[in-house]
Amino acid sequence: MQKTTQLIHSIPVDEQTGAISVPIYQTSTFVQEAPGENKGYDYSRSNNPTRAALENIIAELEGGHAGFAFASGLAAIDAVVKLLQTGDELLAVDDIYGGAFRQFTHIYKKFGINVNYVDTTDVNNVLNAITDKTKLVWVETPTNPTLKISDIAAIAQVAKRHNALLCVDNTFASPALQQPLKLGADIVLHSATKYIGGHSDIIAGLVVCKTKELSNEIKFIQNACGAVLAPHDSWLAIRGIETLPLRIEQHSKNALEIAKFLQEQPQVDKVYYPGLSTHHNHDIARKQQTAFGGIVSFTLKRDTETAAKKFVCSTQLFKLAESLGGVKSLLCHPATMTHKSTPDEQRRAAGVADSLVRLSVGLEDAEDLKQDIAQALKKLQVSDVAGAALLYQ
Ligand SMILES: *Cc1c(COP(=O)(O)O)cnc(C)c1O
Repeated sequence: MQKTTQLIHSIPVDEQTGAISVPIYQTSTFVQEAPGENKGYDYSRSNNPTRAALENIIAELEGGHAGFAFASGLAAIDAVVKLLQTGDELLAVDDIYGGAFRQFTHIYKKFGINVNYVDTTDVNNVLNAITDKTKLVWVETPTNPTLKISDIAAIAQVAKRHNALLCVDNTFASPALQQPLKLGADIVLHSATKYIGGHSDIIAGLVVCKTKELSNEIKFIQNACGAVLAPHDSWLAIRGIETLPLRIEQHSKNALEIAKFLQEQPQVDKVYYPGLSTHHNHDIARKQQTAFGGIVSFTLKRDTETAAKKFVCSTQLFKLAESLGGVKSLLCHPATMTHKSTPDEQRRAAGVADSLVRLSVGLEDAEDLKQDIAQALKKLQVSDVAGAALLYQ
């Protein structure tokens, strides 16, 4: 059976009523026949049929043992870090999602979990930084916002040799483009707020574990800590997944076109997109992804906050907002939005330049999107930014 058919039919028909759409079991508790005797559900924090349907689908999509749905991507990250003990070390990608950085630094550090950050785009950096205390290696690929690519299979080997787990945040690629567990990772994680939900209407997180042992541990943490996804949001995530492969295909096509278009614009300096042959790890991206996703970042030749702000306020179809992965195109200025709490020096060192703009390319017509970018770039030339007109000629 082809993957798309399998995906659509992994979403169960309701046995009791025949409902073709998974029913939303909006209930906190379940009536028991006798104490401890029930139909598999007793309390919705522990288990809920709508959430269970979502958890089974994501486990199937990622090829794991079991899936778990959380109230947000950060709640999912929180559950995975709780696998660690005081004194353990976490080795993470340096270009990590800002919210993960904040959680590791301001929450977990005080519980005695130390985090080291390395550039995981070169596996040798992981090899050099991993220690006996490293219990968890944390990779995002592609990363936010500079789309760095790390070799999952190579890092998985290093982690295994050092008895550390490898967790891959697969938010940017989604399971439609990349399946980290098949490449050797132990845990895969999503902010389902992004491509999985796909319509900018939920906050949700997902975790999939490769083994039964890890699944049991995450299940225990999920129930003990309680940041579960509500039934209605679980239903919206399922509905998003139904069209995930189709959407991702179109997001990727549009994004590649826009990346190429940006490369030709005189006002644009660097373009970051794993689908470009000029991308630093394009070959690895090709090896482990089936397409390159919907996020494109770029910098301006006039590398100032002012120029970038002028651009992000001049687009009409691309709406200025945090988040990504929805049907409507969004854009943001990481230096003053998603990365505003990262110290300037550290931010610039990670490649997040003052003028960096991140596009979440939506499902509109690519031609319209290009025109929108073109007219916003043109505004830069006649802008009141001192010297800009000269620079762009
Ligand atoms: C958005 C995001 C998160 C956090 O997810 P929330 O649903 O916002 O809590 C984690 N990782 C990546 C890569 C993200 O883009």
